[in-house]
Amino acid sequence: MDQSQFRAAAHSAIDDIIGHFDSIHEKRVLPTVEPGYLRSLVPENPPDEPEEWAAIQKDIDSQIKPGLTHWQSPNFMAYFPAGVTYPSILGEMYSATFNAPAFNWLCSPACTELETIVMDWMAKAFGMPECFLSSSKGGGVIQNSASDAIATVITAARERRARELALRDGMEEGTPEYEDRKIEHQGKLVAIASDQTHSSAAKGALIAGTRFRSVQTQLADNMEMTAPRLRKVLEKCEESGLIPYHLTMTFGTTNSCSMDRYAEILALLKEKPEWQRIWVHVDAAYAGASLITEECSHIAKNFAEGVDSFNTNMHKWLLVNFDASLLFVRNRVDLTNAFDMTPAYLRNTYSDSGAVIDYRNWSFSLGRRFRALKIWFVVRSYGLNGMKEYIRKTMGLGDIFADLIRGRSDLFEIVTKPAFCLTVFRVKNPQATSNGSNEANGTAAVCKRDKESDSLTKKVYELVNSRGEIFITSTVIDGVYVIRVVSSNPMAEEKYVRNAFDILVRTTEEVIGQKD
Ligand code: PLP
Repeated sequence: MDQSQFRAAAHSAIDDIIGHFDSIHEKRVLPTVEPGYLRSLVPENPPDEPEEWAAIQKDIDSQIKPGLTHWQSPNFMAYFPAGVTYPSILGEMYSATFNAPAFNWLCSPACTELETIVMDWMAKAFGMPECFLSSSKGGGVIQNSASDAIATVITAARERRARELALRDGMEEGTPEYEDRKIEHQGKLVAIASDQTHSSAAKGALIAGTRFRSVQTQLADNMEMTAPRLRKVLEKCEESGLIPYHLTMTFGTTNSCSMDRYAEILALLKEKPEWQRIWVHVDAAYAGASLITEECSHIAKNFAEGVDSFNTNMHKWLLVNFDASLLFVRNRVDLTNAFDMTPAYLRNTYSDSGAVIDYRNWSFSLGRRFRALKIWFVVRSYGLNGMKEYIRKTMGLGDIFADLIRGRSDLFEIVTKPAFCLTVFRVKNPQATSNGSNEANGTAAVCKRDKESDSLTKKVYELVNSRGEIFITSTVIDGVYVIRVVSSNPMAEEKYVRNAFDILVRTTEEVIGQKD
């Protein structure tokens, strides 16, 4: 493809992309294809001869689009969103153009320096304590995903704790005895998180080669991890000769957007010197975006003491496309101590001087994408005020949806406290005398397990998704089968939220009617 062909192809692709966004609300959210659909459409072997862009682009319509789940549709209300915006797409275009895997500062100073700057911008925008800024001992690094960020900090925490224990035993760093002692201690280390924590914490412990224990939660506590329940796990570990070294606290769990009780948990960890050595991470993969608003930013002040790291994905609810997972750490040496491996071929005078950041030492991978660019474009194009407006608007849509569900208490009951645009509810069992309708806020009764309600809720969920007008997800919370509806898509509007509610009412009446 030469320059003029590229110009024509790019213009045509941009027109197609704009058309795609303009018509996305009319499309079925879920595709109707069956597994393996693409095999029969795409030739078995790659082409020997070059093809025209027009022919390739045509196949996007005929072969790719039929197999897409439309995450950008305003009718996509499943999981958490993965938003994309035009400035973010422009960031991807330039990033692909420069294509600089800037593992060392020298490999493209602009990539490293812009990353440090946008991470500081975002730390300030979230109201993060000073210690997480690059001007202090901390700083931020962009990771592919929250799972990567979490595995990174769990591995760094393992290194920090095993190192401390080996040094405490009088081992001399760098000797084989020291390495052996570290591995011995590693065998006793335990990472802890609640049973509502995203599975990436357990995976992180697996990657770090350590044990994992979970803290039970319950509907009576709105599925929040509490200090007394954490204490039980910590004490049980100690009775078994195990050493807790990492704790994940979640700010906005995947199931129900609950928030672990960080104040009481941080107070608990102060009780014993051994517990003060636990690396505390806050996973705010989705809900962290809310910190950008004044209504929520005060929350970040709680992380001034006792929290070692924090992650949030701009690629969920903050207008930047996948991937843009922000990881902030209190002490950057905790990362570099774990991941700095510098063979001769990676050395240069700038790195040796210690005056620059080499982000390869802050994460697993060596090469990295220039993701700071799209964040820079989005923040400048929207301004913080525009970003706050979007968060507030979508939160408001969440309130509207939750109120609509409350308004049909004959059909539905809310199971956990609605939060951050997520409403978790179930279909009521029409035969139940008292269903204990609640918002799990500590004042009302708590939903009890009910097989009939589970079965009705599952039927409604499956029927709604099979029709493809909207896409929602279900989960099981404390043994209760529930539907989750999320309203934080960049294209979300009140009319779509109301439409989703109407579909749910119609489908529920149909399912209950079939039973009679
Ligand atoms: N943490 C939480 C709370 C999540 O909800 C998710 C995904 O939804 C993750 C972590 C994992 O995110 P990622 O896909 O960026 O790895």
